[in-house]
Amino acid sequence: AADVVTQVLYPNDPPSKWNYLKVYFPTKRDYISGSVSFLVPSIVFSFILLVTFITTIYIIFRQKRLSEMKTDFVNNMTHELKTPIASISLVAQMLSDQSITLPADKVRDYHSVLFSESKRLRMLAEKVLQLSMFDSIDAIHFKFDELEANTVVEEATMAFQLKVKQDDPNGSIEAHIDAEDPIINADRMHFTNLVNNLLDNALKYRRPEVPIKLVVSTFNKGKQFVITFSDNGIGIKKEDLKRIFDRFYRVTSGNVHNVKGVGIGLTYVAGVVKAHHGTITVDSKYGHGTTFTVSFPIMDD
Ligand code: ADP
Repeated sequence: AADVVTQVLYPNDPPSKWNYLKVYFPTKRDYISGSVSFLVPSIVFSFILLVTFITTIYIIFRQKRLSEMKTDFVNNMTHELKTPIASISLVAQMLSDQSITLPADKVRDYHSVLFSESKRLRMLAEKVLQLSMFDSIDAIHFKFDELEANTVVEEATMAFQLKVKQDDPNGSIEAHIDAEDPIINADRMHFTNLVNNLLDNALKYRRPEVPIKLVVSTFNKGKQFVITFSDNGIGIKKEDLKRIFDRFYRVTSGNVHNVKGVGIGLTYVAGVVKAHHGTITVDSKYGHGTTFTVSFPIMDD
């Protein structure tokens, strides 16, 4: 009955004489749905276009920021490379001068310059390697295994003590190894790198006017193995805190090159933490010091 349209033929006749015209459309529904059905795909298509467009714009902006950071990275890197190369070639030149016989202590000096500068070059190369690995963070191969994390942290801290003493004879570094359940599922090499990166940063970003004081602690909290690195360094401003884990991000200071670095150490650290299903947080008071807290799930036995 819905497909029947009824109309009075002569509405001016008296109602008793009305005649009706009824038209029946057996295919009315098909006709209507047939004529609007083209709308549905076109709405869907417009929606897809819109989403694609927004995504493209977003990617373009992200790429732009990344490429700016990459330029900064290359500039910093070039600067970082120049110094050790210059020192090494200078020493090589001095050693090649046959006309003077060098006193033993001079030779020792040269030797230590060569040693430390080549070590610096190697470290730079390692950093770049770490970075390129993280171009595709999921492609990196972690070799997970049972790891007694207390020992790793303690050994790294002990080894680091020498470095601290060299840079700052009045500096102190303490280790409070208190975790009772230190077994985590981790990749030994990457975990050790993580600890070393955080230690390195504490020394790099110290306040030169006060002796460095660095406290490393491990403890358990719930089912987590937690390490904290607390320094009394320059601290990080609130607006920088969010971004220090970004690739190539470095806090800009008056002189960008006053501290050596290329801005990937923390990116790497955050990547390693993520791969281990851990968390990392940072808490800092500008001008006073910074605390990094990393936690990893302990292994169920
Ligand atoms: P890099 O040290 O090569 O610049 P990182 O990724 O290790 O790169 O660090 C990013 C930025 O975070 C650094 O430029 C520095 O400003 C800041 N930062 C890292 N660790 C500390 C710290 N312990 N104290 C103060 N600032 C820090």
